Amino acid sequence: MSDCIFCKIVSGDLPGKFVYRDELVTAFHDINPAAPVHILVIPNKHIASTNDLTVQDEQLMGHLLLTVKKIAEDEGISKDGYRLIVNTGANANQLVPHLHVHILGGKNMIHPMG
Ligand code: AMP
Ligand code: ZN
Repeated sequence: MSDCIFCKIVSGDLPGKFVYRDELVTAFHDINPAAPVHILVIPNKHIASTNDLTVQDEQLMGHLLLTVKKIAEDEGISKDGYRLIVNTGANANQLVPHLHVHILGGKNMIHPMG
């Protein structure tokens, strides 16, 4: 997707503060952090949202979630815990239409959600 900002971060056309990259997924710091640790993990290929996942993405999404686990360990937030957020569509205020998992950690999260 030529006009997608997260595709441009994956391709290097826009800068990102990368924390992890491989052939399937990329992780980088959120530009407007909502917590001391705020990292976005995205598939390298353009998938607009969870609404657009297909059975072909099963392995990719499993890999993405295991990458979340690894990043949480690397960032030192595994033990105290962290929150994962995936916004889909208008009601969730999804601003960037390229599927992304927010990792939020380093502080106690507001409860309940929503
Ligand atoms: P969402 O509402 O789930 O679509 O959130 C999109 C997130 O992307 C927000 O937390 C933004 O701060 C973040 N964001 C937008 N542009 C960039 C960028 N160029 N680099 C890093 N994070 C970004
Ligand atoms: Zn994209």
